[in-house]
Amino acid sequence: MIKHDIVVIGGGLAGMRAAVEAAERGADVAIVSKMHPVRSHSGAAQGGINAALGNREDDSPENHAFDCAKGSDYLGDQDAIEVMAEDAPGQIIWLEHRGCIFSRLPDGRIAQRPFGGAGSPRTCYSADVTGLVILHTLWEQLERFKVKVYEEYFATALCVEDGIGTGVVAYNMRNGELELVTAKATIFATGGAGRVYAKTTNGYASTGDGMAIAYRAGIPLMDMEFVQFHPTSLKENGVLLSEAARGEGAYLLNKDGERFMFKYAPNKGELASRDVVSRAEWTEILEGRGIDGCVLLDLRHLGREKILERLPQIRELALDATGKDAIDTPIPILPGMHYTMGGIATDKDGATNIPGVYAAGECACVSVHGANRLGGNSLLETIVFGARAAKHAASYINGVKDVTPSVKTLRSEQDRINGILARSGGERHSHVRKAVNAAMSDHAFIFRDAPTLTNGMDALRKVREAAATMTVQDKSKTFNTDLVNLLETEFLVDIAQPIMLGALNRDESRGAQARTDFPDRNDEKWLKHTLMHYRGQTSDPQADYSRKVTITKWQPMVRTY
Ligand SMILES: Cc1cc2nc3c(=O)[nH]c(=O)nc-3n(C[C@H](O)[C@H](O)[C@H](O)COP(=O)(O)OP(=O)(O)OC[C@H]3O[C@@H](n4cnc5c(N)ncnc54)[C@H](O)[C@@H]3O)c2cc1C
Repeated sequence: MIKHDIVVIGGGLAGMRAAVEAAERGADVAIVSKMHPVRSHSGAAQGGINAALGNREDDSPENHAFDCAKGSDYLGDQDAIEVMAEDAPGQIIWLEHRGCIFSRLPDGRIAQRPFGGAGSPRTCYSADVTGLVILHTLWEQLERFKVKVYEEYFATALCVEDGIGTGVVAYNMRNGELELVTAKATIFATGGAGRVYAKTTNGYASTGDGMAIAYRAGIPLMDMEFVQFHPTSLKENGVLLSEAARGEGAYLLNKDGERFMFKYAPNKGELASRDVVSRAEWTEILEGRGIDGCVLLDLRHLGREKILERLPQIRELALDATGKDAIDTPIPILPGMHYTMGGIATDKDGATNIPGVYAAGECACVSVHGANRLGGNSLLETIVFGARAAKHAASYINGVKDVTPSVKTLRSEQDRINGILARSGGERHSHVRKAVNAAMSDHAFIFRDAPTLTNGMDALRKVREAAATMTVQDKSKTFNTDLVNLLETEFLVDIAQPIMLGALNRDESRGAQARTDFPDRNDEKWLKHTLMHYRGQTSDPQADYSRKVTITKWQPMVRTY
């Protein structure tokens, strides 16, 4: 059995930031990750990380917080938003002091670029490879503190003894054994669930594992219906072209060569928030002003030098996928699933409703993004709330003498997985994955309505039945990726239902939830969070609307850009 005081599940930015914070506080901490930490999806983050650093007189943490509250369409909890905006400058300096190489202004200060929905340029960046640069900085810190990393360990279940979190069960992918990882505090940092949709900017590992594990163990998922569709994913393969492109001045064009965004956002144009831009693009396409089902991202006027200096990766990604060089050709793009605003319900310290269990990063819902996340705030969330969750966990474990290893959870996971390996004649997990992807992409995309969502719930009930029969062909013990893919598909099936049901129940339009049958925001009825409780693999989730939105300074207003 593996035993540590604190175990962090996930080695992306949130997980590594949490582990470093715990180590700095002297805790015995380890990371469990299904892949090597520096291969985590955070490494794909391109554009940057927000903080009102004070480089500009017209910016402040309060302005940052206001932009987030407005960007969230007033669903974000404003106390949590204020904490994030206030902690942000200190965390950027913390990263810088640990060697993170940010791009600079000529006078040596950290450079910041404009991002959608932001009142002033506050997105710090490392060219267009920001996530990777921060990831490597944190990895060096893990090495410095000699934090133990259980790599290629796949968490399958949360252990709860007498109502208290006591670690996880993890599948050691190298030898096929299930192991108990016992800890006084467990921090989930398992990332998003992009793979629930057919086309996504997310990597193959973003399968919502931690969300599903926590949900099955009795922690509610919050605001899952709010799914961000990013305006600029490549038509060919769904890969993201960062908002940094528009931040640096790129245009969006329809088939007539018109910069259409000013029709939808007269003040901000291409730099309106993502929900607004994605809806505008989709409207252009639906109304026949797209080109072969997409619109164009035009960087040509930025010039070769700026593109090569500030946006080199974006140019390369587009070149690889389309053969088109952004220096002299507009790139075909369309909205693609990008980010899960919802997640494991936590408070401002990452704590969940189970003592000793925390969550941070994209798998968590604090909630700082509400109905729509602003670009640059997710990297910030991983760093701020990774650190806060670890700080809280480090103090919590001081009051816990010891925890009982959850042998019963280990046994039941062993029985469950042996049952899957022994099964034959059922559905292939790849078919189930396709079915869940199709249900989500066809029924819970950018524009939604009651009949489509109702059909979506029916489709997911059928998927659920098929998922219970899933089989693997590979019965071996060593690196059985067939089995891991099946387990990930089970997680996706669990995650899909709260998204669909949340979208069906919420009969209003707010942020990323655009209901054509209820086009207006309805604060009287819906200024509250959606909590979804797990009721077993054969039942729909239980919806609960008891958690009110926290408003501190900014009363909901009409949201225009
Ligand atoms: C292409 C792209 C570009 C982006 N650019 C930006 C940007 O410029 N600015 C910004 O703010 N945001 C950006 N985002 C969003 C941001 O990158 C992510 O939200 C953030 O990095 C998520 O970090 P995380 O630590 O929560 O999760 P991840 O980095 O996804 O890490 C998850 C970790 O959990 C582990 N894990 C998962 N499941 C299990 C399991 N069952 N058992 C064990 N380990 C597990 C994985 O191995 C991994 O180590 C971008 C997103 C994408 C897709």
